[in-house]
Amino acid sequence: MIRINEHFTKLKASYLFADIAKRVNTYVAAHPDQPIIRLGIGDVTEPLPPICIAALHAATEEMAARATFKGYGPEQGYAFLREAVAQHDFKAHGAHVEADEVFVSDGSKCDVANIQEIFAADTRLAIPDPVYPVYVDTNVMAGRTGVNDDGRYAGITYLESTAANGYVPAPPAVATDLIYLCFPNNPTGAVATRAQLAAWVAYAKKNHAIILFDAAYEAYVRTPGIPRSIYEIEGARDVAIEFRSFSKLAGFTGLRCAYTVIPKNLQARDAAGQEHSVHALWNRRHTTKFNGVSYPVQKAAAAVYSPEGQAQTKALTDFYLGNAKLIREAVQQLGMTCIGGDDAPYIWVNTGRDSWEFFDLLLNKAQVVCTPGAGFGKCGEGHVRISAFNSRSNVTTALARIAAALR
Ligand code: PLP
Repeated sequence: MIRINEHFTKLKASYLFADIAKRVNTYVAAHPDQPIIRLGIGDVTEPLPPICIAALHAATEEMAARATFKGYGPEQGYAFLREAVAQHDFKAHGAHVEADEVFVSDGSKCDVANIQEIFAADTRLAIPDPVYPVYVDTNVMAGRTGVNDDGRYAGITYLESTAANGYVPAPPAVATDLIYLCFPNNPTGAVATRAQLAAWVAYAKKNHAIILFDAAYEAYVRTPGIPRSIYEIEGARDVAIEFRSFSKLAGFTGLRCAYTVIPKNLQARDAAGQEHSVHALWNRRHTTKFNGVSYPVQKAAAAVYSPEGQAQTKALTDFYLGNAKLIREAVQQLGMTCIGGDDAPYIWVNTGRDSWEFFDLLLNKAQVVCTPGAGFGKCGEGHVRISAFNSRSNVTTALARIAAALR
């Protein structure tokens, strides 16, 4: 009989957001007259920037005429988008990235999930805790871990992000091969300084390791001097892959477009010690398993780099950061400490109590949904994540209800 990939059985039975939905649905069924405000899942709420909508319409018209119709495009993305990315997201900020080092995709979730395929089964992993769960679960599926015991998989070096280190872990004392970093961070909202990232680049160089740098929230960085890209750090091209997404930059969560940067000089070895181009391996994988992002969507993404697009996406991210500021101030006024919200759309609240208990308290007394920190890893216990992705009126109503419930 056909057998399953048994590594899947090591995964925690349910997904965090499914657990949350179950509790929320139970509450709603019992209290149908009490409207819930969701500050839990990190999905955007505001519509697409007008310039992206105009680009979508124009590209759709092109698809309607024989002379301008497009079939399959290049799997790696159209040159117009790859060139705009290299120029505006990197070269303009002093970081060296070439257009042919950019691989356009339909989302960073897929990219951060799929990238591990090109590395050996016995690759030693360093993964933050708390964490965006995709980094862990995809490696569990691939068989790179043992079983989960007390919230930790055997075989992973966990990078603990706690109040003690300002939620930015330093490189570990042990050698690892593949390091997942995410700044601005989901779930904590923490950002890493240039010096902190330089320490990671030095660690990766020393250990011939590769850093997977998830910059899905880079558009929220406002503090001067905080790097938006790992390639702003000298030497990072030799040791790092970067993931970026249009989801939180321009509201593309439903439209789907992202990209991954793999420098052409990035090398990894085979069992015999011979070096191979990681760019070439990923190009092989990407062209074999992916058939490109649709032309209208890539046109909409490229519109982000026009002067109007830059202004409109800045206004969009400023709007969510305005929500984040209100949330942070309200949390602090209630006497709780928190991080995030300055350069990220998430506020990580140190609740001083069990995170699911605090979740239930907010749900039952304030009808507000947050995300319990324990769902992001062992170090998330005692915390909740509050998301700034919502309308201003929902945020202010939710904060007033939270204040009333906790006072
Ligand atoms: N990386 C992080 C850290 C995220 O939080 C998310 C989405 O929430 C993603 C990647 C996925 O982004 P995309 O919408 O491009 O798949």
